[in-house]
Amino acid sequence: MPNFKTLDDLPQDLSGQRALVRVDLNLPMKDGRASDLTRVNVVAPTILELANRGAKVLLLAHYGRPKGDRHSTMSLSMVQGDLERVLDREIMFIPEVAGPVVTQSVDILGNGDIGLLENTRFWPGEEANDADFAKSIAAHGDIYVNDAFSAAHRAHATTEGLAKLLPAYAGRAMEAELKALDAALGTPKPPVAAVVGGAKVSTKLAVLENLSRKVQHLVIGGGMANTFLAANGVNVGKSLCEHDLTDTARTIMDAADEAGCTIHLPYDVVVATEFAPNPPSVRTCNVHEVAADEMILDIGPQATEALGDVLKTCATLVWNGPLGAFETPPFDEATVALARTAAALTQDGSLISVAGGGDTVAALTHAGVADDLTYISTAGGAFLEWMEGKELPGVAALSA
Ligand code: ADP
Ligand code: MG
Repeated sequence: MPNFKTLDDLPQDLSGQRALVRVDLNLPMKDGRASDLTRVNVVAPTILELANRGAKVLLLAHYGRPKGDRHSTMSLSMVQGDLERVLDREIMFIPEVAGPVVTQSVDILGNGDIGLLENTRFWPGEEANDADFAKSIAAHGDIYVNDAFSAAHRAHATTEGLAKLLPAYAGRAMEAELKALDAALGTPKPPVAAVVGGAKVSTKLAVLENLSRKVQHLVIGGGMANTFLAANGVNVGKSLCEHDLTDTARTIMDAADEAGCTIHLPYDVVVATEFAPNPPSVRTCNVHEVAADEMILDIGPQATEALGDVLKTCATLVWNGPLGAFETPPFDEATVALARTAAALTQDGSLISVAGGGDTVAALTHAGVADDLTYISTAGGAFLEWMEGKELPGVAALSA
């Protein structure tokens, strides 16, 4: 477990303390409005707790990729209204991150008030992790709280630099994420199963390599299973398959074997000749019976049931990537079935289940189990880098 401080390590009364709080407000926008407020809900408890304990809360966040320049279309002022609605507090928007405007604004804020600073990426020093830029921001705070795990894989001024300049604490969302991830892969209760799916092996090579060294069962599903099947001499027809990576797949299987990790590949699959909702050509078959004009679009019911049985013998599950092309019925069936098994085992108390990844979260929500697993990470890139076994700079800086 990384050794980090939390809000519990701060005095209860934070009156007069200026808290610089890094959050993720990179909300998905549609027609100038946030289409999903998950990220605001995730950081709300930390913001409200600090404010209720009397701190002057100064929110730091990035939005989009303005590349070190001011772009009016990427001003964080556009999320001020959403923040006010979710927090049910008034928020002062401050159109800078450092300098006299910030000083004057912070003077106006009372204890327990909340200010929202401008998009940190309007300044090149953010992504460059420039020490002077970080210092200019640090001058406006007494403590630094990082509640943006999803940005922790980047060593930027407000995700890493500030932690070295001010007493640094994990916010509540960061704390929960780090504890869940530690329970899943840091110091997990064995046996551990990892389910890795999704489209391509190439995007998750490092994930597969790391997991094959750490877990007892590695389930490979989704499009990437096709590359592993092909490496085993299976004819996968017109399936999505990275034929140039079959040697790599072989190496991963050999390494897993040596490490005592069992790799689970499907032995039945759902195929069709065209990729469309409920195509007439859809059928289930053994992996050795895929026709030249067919595509594997999901793993089959027998394989799914066998995987459920594997989960029943495991104490911990970590899951990234859907088992099939779940956006298009009926190729969601294996993902939905395994998700429900994982949820039931979790609810029974026999499984600790942690899942993450953009499409994975969508798939688990589609399966109706988003609230029934132990923890679902919405962190995307940071979650994947953690699955790769990498040290995340934003987390490392909190632990230093
Ligand atoms: P995540 O975002 O959770 O990390 P990925 O982006 O790696 O997941 O993969 C998700 C995508 O993989 C989905 O869009 C899904 O349709 C696709 N996929 C899964 N199985 C297959 C398959 N057999 N053939 C083609 N695409 C697949
Ligand atoms: Mg994805």
